[in-house]
Amino acid sequence: MKTVDDFNYNNQKVLVRVDFNVPLDEKYNVTDNTRIVMAKPTIEKILKDGGSVILMSHLGRPKGPDEKFSLKHIIPEVEKVLGKRIIFSPEIIGPEVKKKAGSIKKGEVMLLENLRFDPREKKGDVAFARELAALADAYVNDAFGTAHRAHASTTVVARFFPGKKAAGYLLANEVKNIKKALEEGEHPITAIIGGAKVSSKLGVIKNLMDKVDNLIIVGGMAYTFLKALGKQTGKSLVEDDLIDEAKNLMKYAKEKGVDLVLPVDFIVADDFSPGANTKIVDADHIPEEWMGLDIGPETINLLDKVIKQSKTIIWNGPAGVFEWDAFSKGTRSIAQSIAEATNQGAFSLVGGGDSVAAVKKYGLQDKISYISTGGGAMLEMLEGKDLPAIKALED
Ligand code: AMP
Repeated sequence: MKTVDDFNYNNQKVLVRVDFNVPLDEKYNVTDNTRIVMAKPTIEKILKDGGSVILMSHLGRPKGPDEKFSLKHIIPEVEKVLGKRIIFSPEIIGPEVKKKAGSIKKGEVMLLENLRFDPREKKGDVAFARELAALADAYVNDAFGTAHRAHASTTVVARFFPGKKAAGYLLANEVKNIKKALEEGEHPITAIIGGAKVSSKLGVIKNLMDKVDNLIIVGGMAYTFLKALGKQTGKSLVEDDLIDEAKNLMKYAKEKGVDLVLPVDFIVADDFSPGANTKIVDADHIPEEWMGLDIGPETINLLDKVIKQSKTIIWNGPAGVFEWDAFSKGTRSIAQSIAEATNQGAFSLVGGGDSVAAVKKYGLQDKISYISTGGGAMLEMLEGKDLPAIKALED
């Protein structure tokens, strides 16, 4: 896969797919500009070479043209981050856009309206992609967050730029760091997989089984494994239809010599609410009317030991309902253990909206080796899948 460093963009118009899907408040102020900041080095490289940039992105999930999701709202923030004026095109394709794109000069940046205002974007429509491609001389994809989608702007458009397509710095960095952990990671490798359901991360768990030494299962998904072991899980989240699958996974782990680590104690609650009554119980004694909403102190100690003995750590998904203080300690402790292990020389990779939010909430973002910006895209890479947008850059 070529990156922007393999090209000189002097006198070139470059169509750059970015992920400017940023959160906005009710007055349309950007509340977290991380994604814009992350795209800046790629945009600057093209401009420094003497090129011009045509930015394209989606924002939210509009059903069609919808003022609420217009990318015009983010122009002030993009201008602030890039330190230059943005030429906005209220249309995505058509004669007006072509005229505008044709007249942009060296060093200028143009932004197209929200790609998802046109239903052909998500359908991966070839004619739509061709029209986008006609705006520029070269294509760069720096939107890792949508790299698992075969949409017109992320994947299909690449075919119109043979020999002139490249990954931006952010996308290239994401791929490099995920591969570093998954394929070149120093052993022992530990993966911590949490979150609500086994079903959403089954593929990830299976693929990791072939790569890691320790696989820690926390969060809501742990209870399906406990039930598969014949334990009482009370009112905890259990996916009954996956109990056999959980049994198979535990058997496979044994065959592979993977240490599958499950929680040994929990904080249980008598209600799914932030103010519920709570108590600590061991994994064999979840009372009938109670539900596990976080890992307990013994588990925290156990995981700390496993994490600190690791040379490579991959984390995706919270250990409990960390949004509520009463059940956030497990997730916080995992973040802290990973930060300490990283400080001792381990390589750590954290991804997924909740885990990244937790790391940021506890001020540990600078103590992790690499924080992935793509939840779904990272999970698909951990599943061992080829991401369509990345494949399209390689073809
Ligand atoms: P996911 O999107 O699959 O990574 O799941 C994240 C969600 O899982 C978060 O909103 C957590 O609150 C939730 N979660 C974590 N642990 C539990 C649990 N023990 N019971 C119910 N939900 C949980």
